[in-house]
Amino acid sequence: MIRIAIQAKGRLNEESVALLAEAGIRIEDSKRKLLALAADFPLEVLYLRDDDIPQAVAMGVADLGIVGLNEVEEKGEAVDVVHRLGFGKCRLSLAVPKAENYDSPAWFDGKRVATSYPKILRAFFEKSGIRAEIHEIAGSVEIAPSVGMADGIFDIVSSGGTLVTNGLKEVEKVFFSEAVLVANRALSEEKRQILSQLLFRFEAVERSRGMKYMLMNLPQDKVAEAVEILPGMKSPTVLPLAQEGWCSVHVVVNERDLWNKIEQLKAIGAEDILVLALEKMIW
Ligand code: ATP
Ligand code: MG
Repeated sequence: MIRIAIQAKGRLNEESVALLAEAGIRIEDSKRKLLALAADFPLEVLYLRDDDIPQAVAMGVADLGIVGLNEVEEKGEAVDVVHRLGFGKCRLSLAVPKAENYDSPAWFDGKRVATSYPKILRAFFEKSGIRAEIHEIAGSVEIAPSVGMADGIFDIVSSGGTLVTNGLKEVEKVFFSEAVLVANRALSEEKRQILSQLLFRFEAVERSRGMKYMLMNLPQDKVAEAVEILPGMKSPTVLPLAQEGWCSVHVVVNERDLWNKIEQLKAIGAEDILVLALEKMIW
């Protein structure tokens, strides 16, 4: 049995639960309980505030955790980052009122900066040789300049919309974050095995994201040209058709390239093209 801490509610909750579900791990109704057992995998889920996840994992209250790299970095707890999960992407940035004439980080010398991430900010200022006053506040950091609490802020940014709404502009991108899987540093052998099973499933899920399965009929003598267009998993599957001189080609393609590939394939004579959802890719 392994215990994983995930965010109880908030931006990472839904995708954490969805990732587990895609990995074949269904959890009993999550909303009312602190601890829930998975139906078909030796795992239980502990629902926590994201701030508490690094410490819970470091202490061994949970063996694993899904949390933003920003929280891991800020808390500085002794945990291993074992996998990047590709969701919850954001950055920690410095921002100043729109009208300011900002040219370099030296602008912050002698200024007051409000943030919920004092440790990461202090490290940045130290590295840049800047002496600024850091004000730690728990929330609503973005309103600090307009109410006269600070000259600038250091906060989470994803699209930048919140900054604009508050009359601020992003001036330094300091730390890039995404959700990560963290692990306790002293897992038992049994737990390590469950972790590697879990990682295997996560990787299969990630690999199949954005991938499509495509089938088409193609004149036999065009297969070599199709192979040039389609660098499939290893090489495309080519099956004979009942109709002489024709074959069926199966390949996995990235959704990004789909229409481009389809146009190229039609141009060399591909017909009856089918595009199907791809559930999992296991190597
Ligand atoms: P909790 O109640 O668990 O303490 P919270 O309010 O601290 O939640 P959320 O706003 O739910 O945190 O964000 C959780 C994490 O999601 C952040 O620490 C960050 O890693 C990530 N994230 C991604 N994009 C954004 C964004 N635009 N704003 C805030 N967090 C984001
Ligand atoms: Mg939090």
